[in-house]
Amino acid sequence: RRARALEHATGPGSTLDGKQVKLLANIGGVDDAVAAGAADVEGVGLFRTEFVFLSSPTAPTVDDQAEIYRQVFEPFEGRRVVVRTLDAGADKPLAFADLGAEENPALGRRGLRLSAERPDLLDAQLEALSVAAGQTGADVWVMAPMVADAQEAAWFARRVRENGLPTVGVMIEIPAAALRAGHVMAEVDFGSLGTNDLAQYTMAADRMQGELAELLDPWQPAVLDVVASAAEGAGRNGKPMGVCGESAGDPLMALVLAGLGCSSLSMAPSRVAMVRFALSRHTFAQCVRLAHLARSARTPADARAAVLAECAPDL
Ligand code: PEP
Ligand code: MG
Repeated sequence: RRARALEHATGPGSTLDGKQVKLLANIGGVDDAVAAGAADVEGVGLFRTEFVFLSSPTAPTVDDQAEIYRQVFEPFEGRRVVVRTLDAGADKPLAFADLGAEENPALGRRGLRLSAERPDLLDAQLEALSVAAGQTGADVWVMAPMVADAQEAAWFARRVRENGLPTVGVMIEIPAAALRAGHVMAEVDFGSLGTNDLAQYTMAADRMQGELAELLDPWQPAVLDVVASAAEGAGRNGKPMGVCGESAGDPLMALVLAGLGCSSLSMAPSRVAMVRFALSRHTFAQCVRLAHLARSARTPADARAAVLAECAPDL
């Protein structure tokens, strides 16, 4: 019965009572874009651009980048593509953006901090994105990784808009930005929660260490509190807040995230059908209640169990 229900779950994401929750794809390059473009998704919620250049010894030229971005945008004519500017870090080292060894790379000069030290790399990327956006009919949104505060958000937003790219956002993956989302979101058009890093920084647990998986669980009630703060701050500004961390692809967590006020969920395309089905079985009010139950729990296991006990039995 569940398989049949899943087959029939197609089209835009929405709750049982019709509140829209956009279902988007996470991609890392042209091949992913072609595959996701043919899938039943509403667009791209996270294009990890650093993945394209992991084996480049030298910085890619504007022309080279523009051609790659054009190929990524092409399958998404009329649909949204959220592009994240380079997020080099310990987990994703870029030879041409190497700032030297660091004692604590996760807390170092990664993400937008790299762009601040190497504005030449950011400007080349923005120019290429602007060229490629002009060559296709995709709705191109640009966001920065690892934004800590409103000043960084404003600095990035000005640079993006100066390049003729009208829709600019920030990833919310540092707890400081989530706690101060009211101010951060005033500077930009949208936010996207990176729950992988948000869990790492909220719980002070290195995401590269498998032994710490329990602390990194996105069901940690503290992580959900931080997500709630980000969604509230966006809501006060009338700005959309989405999620592009892996947790968005967990159908039960997707209900909680929708209930916290997140209006888009971006995930591996293979997860979309399950999440769409879960949303379609619950009203928005039920999602709000599930979010409340999860945040009221004492442990991650209790949070998940409380949601599972209250959600539709066929999930
Ligand atoms: C995240 O941190 O949740 C995220 C989506 O970005 P990445 O996994 O690429 O750091
Ligand atoms: Mg991240």
